[in-house]
Amino acid sequence: MTENANTLGFEEPAFEGQLFEGQEAEVFIGLGSNLNAPKKQLDQAIKSLSQLPSCTLTAHSSYYSSKPVGPQDQPNFVNAAALIKTTLSPIALLKHLQAIELNQGRVKKRHWGERSIDLDILLYGDRSIDSEDLIIPHKELKNRDFVLQPLLELDENLELPDGASLRSLLAICPDNQLQRIES
Ligand code: AMP
Repeated sequence: MTENANTLGFEEPAFEGQLFEGQEAEVFIGLGSNLNAPKKQLDQAIKSLSQLPSCTLTAHSSYYSSKPVGPQDQPNFVNAAALIKTTLSPIALLKHLQAIELNQGRVKKRHWGERSIDLDILLYGDRSIDSEDLIIPHKELKNRDFVLQPLLELDENLELPDGASLRSLLAICPDNQLQRIES
């Protein structure tokens, strides 16, 4: 293994511009899976998050099951949220999350379809980003109870950069029959 290999045995790519103005940001990450033992997929992804360079995993939420959005002929999802502190730039962090997805054998089968693991940057401090590769806050955050509820478990007073309270967004978002489950 090279010096870039982590304890999980896969190569961590080195990215340009890893440091983001040298400042530590609080970043909320969404996790979802409905294939290949979803709870184990989330366990593995959380372990990988805890080993990312320039990141500290602060907390993660309970696990929740929910009905799939989109095609209904697929298993229910298991979702959670994690909070990290990091000096990685948003794009460097995205590349690391994509490396974790690949390491866990993610193959995208269809839009809004089944996947072994999906990792999204939900919130990056109070920043708003709208670029080709990255939209923060995540564009579906407001519409997903399986995203809002785990986030509120981590911080019940959480707000979007525009000041909207997640609690009020949850009150009006569609019901995906969210259920807290044993992790
Ligand atoms: P998905 O199928 O949800 O994993 O979408 C992956 C694509 O979404 C990637 O090509 C990313 O560049 C893009 N993307 C845009 N905003 C985000 C975000 N906040 N977190 C993760 N992926 C994002």
